[in-house]
Amino acid sequence: MRAMVLDAPGRPLRLADLPDPEPRPGQVLLDVHACGVCRTDLHLLDGEVAVPDPPVVPGHQIVGRVVAGDGFEPGTRVGVPWLGWTDGTCRFCRGGRENLCPQARFTGRDIDGGFAERAVADARFCFALPEGLDDLHVAPLLCAGLIGYRALRMAGDAERVGLYGFGASAHLLCQVAVWQGRRVFAFTRPGDAEGQAFACSLGAEWAGGSDEPPPEPLDAALIFAPAGPLVTTALRALERGGVVVCAGIHMSDIPSFPYEDLWLEREIRSVANLTRRDGEELLALAPRVPLRTTVTPYPLERANEALDDLRHGRFEGAAVLRIR
Ligand SMILES: [Zn+2]
Ligand SMILES: [Zn+2]
Repeated sequence: MRAMVLDAPGRPLRLADLPDPEPRPGQVLLDVHACGVCRTDLHLLDGEVAVPDPPVVPGHQIVGRVVAGDGFEPGTRVGVPWLGWTDGTCRFCRGGRENLCPQARFTGRDIDGGFAERAVADARFCFALPEGLDDLHVAPLLCAGLIGYRALRMAGDAERVGLYGFGASAHLLCQVAVWQGRRVFAFTRPGDAEGQAFACSLGAEWAGGSDEPPPEPLDAALIFAPAGPLVTTALRALERGGVVVCAGIHMSDIPSFPYEDLWLEREIRSVANLTRRDGEELLALAPRVPLRTTVTPYPLERANEALDDLRHGRFEGAAVLRIR
């Protein structure tokens, strides 16, 4: 099968011809139809998130059809997310926080992922996918959507929600938040009028540059861009009692700030990975909103170009590899 392989950080992905993977007990073998491209893939490529045992096939928003294996009928369409395996026995797993499992293995980092024509996955971590979104358009739900949804959950009952960095995650979360009756304020790169218009078309009531203050204080600010200075910017935009939620796996350093900015029960927190419950909830909610994804497709062998376009913000919404 053809696959794009990460040999080492700092090098582009390499197109390779690999033997088909073989499922072990409890796993499924998938024909990969589409795989979303995520900012985390860029962090792996840049060495900002370590790959413990390269080479590896990246890709953790896999849409595939079951060829063989346990747990699903052949032909079933399933999605494979970032959380690929947990021990199920540690205090985090037992307490409903499998996203924090110290033994967790992640798709496209510890387990070969979906930048390939075939993949194997642990059947317990595969999701059945809703009808109504084709393979390309459902792929971004599997990380951009899921982890964004977890971040929105951490916002509690916040009414005024700021989204900093209006990419793959925010374009989905904006729709969920508006559907939930929240008010959305979108922050893009300064001067990105197209991105701001895109945000308003998805229900944001205000959109501006990340260097601008919102027209009123925010009850929650969700940060999807990997820029630490946004944390202090967002903190200053918060209402008393509000929360800044950092949704990315990596961020540049956060500048120091006066305690006064945090005072009055403002909070800063991160969100890590996902639980299967997050996935089940979002995928059940997707057809009810109904969620619409904006995608830019690339063929498998142009994964490097997709990553470069993501790095430079050259498309709206999400990049997805169209594999078959
Ligand atoms: Zn565990
Ligand atoms: Zn991701």
